[in-house]
Amino acid sequence: MSRSIITSDVVIIGAGIAGLWLHHRLSQLGYHCLLLENNQIGHAQTLSSQGIIHGGSKYALNGILSNAAQTISGMPARWKACLQGNGEIDLSAVNVFTEHQLLWSTQSLSSKMVSFFASKALQSRMQSISKKERSGLFADDGFKGALYQLDEPVLDVSSLLKALIKPYAANILKIPEATPDWVKQDGNITAMRFGDEVEIQAQQFVLTSGEGAAELLQSLQLTKPKMQKRPLQMLLCKAKDPANPLPQIYAHSLGSGSKPIATISSHPDKTSNIVWYLGGNIAEEGVGKEPNILIQEAQALLKQILPWFTLPELEWTTHHVNRAEPKQSGFARPDSAYVSTHHNLHIAWPTKLALSPDLADKVIDAISQQKVQKTSHPEQHILPLAQLAEPLWDRAFNQ
Ligand SMILES: Cc1cc2nc3c(=O)[nH]c(=O)nc-3n(C[C@H](O)[C@H](O)[C@H](O)COP(=O)(O)OP(=O)(O)OC[C@H]3O[C@@H](n4cnc5c(N)ncnc54)[C@H](O)[C@@H]3O)c2cc1C
Repeated sequence: MSRSIITSDVVIIGAGIAGLWLHHRLSQLGYHCLLLENNQIGHAQTLSSQGIIHGGSKYALNGILSNAAQTISGMPARWKACLQGNGEIDLSAVNVFTEHQLLWSTQSLSSKMVSFFASKALQSRMQSISKKERSGLFADDGFKGALYQLDEPVLDVSSLLKALIKPYAANILKIPEATPDWVKQDGNITAMRFGDEVEIQAQQFVLTSGEGAAELLQSLQLTKPKMQKRPLQMLLCKAKDPANPLPQIYAHSLGSGSKPIATISSHPDKTSNIVWYLGGNIAEEGVGKEPNILIQEAQALLKQILPWFTLPELEWTTHHVNRAEPKQSGFARPDSAYVSTHHNLHIAWPTKLALSPDLADKVIDAISQQKVQKTSHPEQHILPLAQLAEPLWDRAFNQ
């Protein structure tokens, strides 16, 4: 049997947010670019994310503007330009759940934190909301704590992926699940092969494969860069009676520590019932716990952090997912988007959905330093198109 050959300027492997954003940018720049996915688009970390376009405030809650907070601080403005249709990618069709995430505390904040919140460094990102300006759940007289508004939008990630896919869908292809064989010449990769059936040739290769990068690096016999996985057990709940749904909130709950106790985002499922998605400390500390035990802890936590709110009867589930990142000492959270180049191979992890634009800049910069020809390639109907995965809210309760 003769092997079918597909050609491109740049091949990107892995269609999560990192691969989709980069594919869109490179295609706009005139490169012929194929994005290859061996499962469904977005199914891994990307559609497990809360969709928060972080500006770093969460990382500054200990009163120090860390490196992470500084690197990420430009991201909300960059995304907002795209969402308004005048940024590097037109995201005007994306559904924005809220322009401003909230942060609340039921206890009075320590004086150190109050003065930090009032400091110049944070004033532009975080504003205190007075009692008469509060709305929804936080307008209730029963809520006695402090409320802040963060300059961080929250997006419907499914609609984001649809907007990124649409103009270039013909070049987002489904590849077999098997690990490919690689063809190399003088250290450069020239092609990837799946058995005797398909060979995909390109001048540059990029791995935006999330957790899958470890296996691909092994198949390439590369011992570096090393990857780390930081697991989470997230929680999801929704009203048993869709006629009496949960209210929509997008907020971090702050206790006495420097990390949010819980971060709640709200997502309409396909029946328009609202699903609360809980992350933060509870999900980090929930790793390895029996789902039923963690659900009981989350029920108790909601009563503690929303004491004035009577919850409707809820249906619960949990979701295990790993964050895949470049390895750091002590499994710390990396500060910024990461790219490592070996000849014509670029290995990339955004480390945050919000940092995907920064990651794309770094890869484009690395590619532009190599002599890549922009060539035209015929449409090659050899592999099927990759399909977008279902939102988590519509699949998590059935698993
Ligand atoms: C629970 C959770 C909540 C989060 N919330 C936020 C948030 O609110 N804001 C934020 O900024 N960040 C958030 N993050 C982080 C963010 O989701 C990730 O940094 C980002 O989605 C990573 O994108 P990615 O494209 O690198 O990886 P992924 O989304 O994991 O995509 C990798 C893709 O590569 C594919 N793949 C793997 N191996 C192969 C192969 N051999 N061949 C072909 N394809 C392959 C996979 O199938 C997958 O589709 C969150 C993460 C988690 C886990």
